[in-house]
Amino acid sequence: MEPSQWFVEGYNGSALMIKIRETLFEKKRLQHIQIFETESFGKMLVLDGKIQLTERDEAMYHEMLIHVPLFSIENPEKILIIGGGDGGSVREALKHDPAEVLLIEIDRDVYDACKKFIGIDNGALGDGRVSVLFEDGIDFVRNAKEKFDVIIVDGTDPNPVSGSLVMEEFYENCRRITDIFATQSQSPFVQRNYFTEIIENTKKAFEFCSVYINYVPTYPLGLWSYVLASGGSIKAVEPDYEVLKKRWEERRIETKHYNPEVHVASFALPEWLRKQMGEI
Ligand code: SAM
Repeated sequence: MEPSQWFVEGYNGSALMIKIRETLFEKKRLQHIQIFETESFGKMLVLDGKIQLTERDEAMYHEMLIHVPLFSIENPEKILIIGGGDGGSVREALKHDPAEVLLIEIDRDVYDACKKFIGIDNGALGDGRVSVLFEDGIDFVRNAKEKFDVIIVDGTDPNPVSGSLVMEEFYENCRRITDIFATQSQSPFVQRNYFTEIIENTKKAFEFCSVYINYVPTYPLGLWSYVLASGGSIKAVEPDYEVLKKRWEERRIETKHYNPEVHVASFALPEWLRKQMGEI
């Protein structure tokens, strides 16, 4: 094995290795952006040394991040997505036929590079219902006056660029402009501190808050988590299978990973995680 042909992402004494065929793009400005052609996962986006997506398993992440909150509400018309400059989340959100989707991405280079070299948005970023602003999501929600039917955070691991996406002030500002909110919340297994901070701060801002999980092979050790939170007009966020199934049949959405059964199952948490959450 020649180490130079492998991309290695390490976390707390363990690592994932992905075999690389070719580097397609590299740029260091706000973040260190790398796009690789891999041996068995298709194209792969890496930011500051951390895998953000691969063509092979991105649907497992984007579909759960987007369809769980959007199937939880009757009529998602006005959607705000923070982060997600690769366009995968916007692509999934458009399947619900909303009137408008606003994407707030801090790093224009990520957006441009993904559009040119990966293209997982399948044209969604050019859709007439989609607007894109290149600014910090923290500032956007701090200054926002308009309300959204739902806010979804598709951010990176906390780092100097995205750091305050996990801070209390950010969640409180989100709550001011939406009744339903979802965010990715890292790995509860290997990134316990980040996970805990996200849950704690979401709970402070929203009246109802639940965690759901799924498997994304190229994220730290595979287990990934998300938070669904609500308040005001939207009471509990626990899934109701009959309601989800009805909406699924009405909206006729094509997916690779999500279905109503997976939605319900993703809220079933193992004993160790329930205990961990009980300590928060
Ligand atoms: N959950 C995926 C992961 O962690 O692997 C996220 C992928 S997506 C590419 C994350 C995007 O969030 C990046 O393009 C990054 O530039 C953007 N981002 C990070 N912090 C942000 C902020 N404060 N405001 C807006 N966008 C942000």
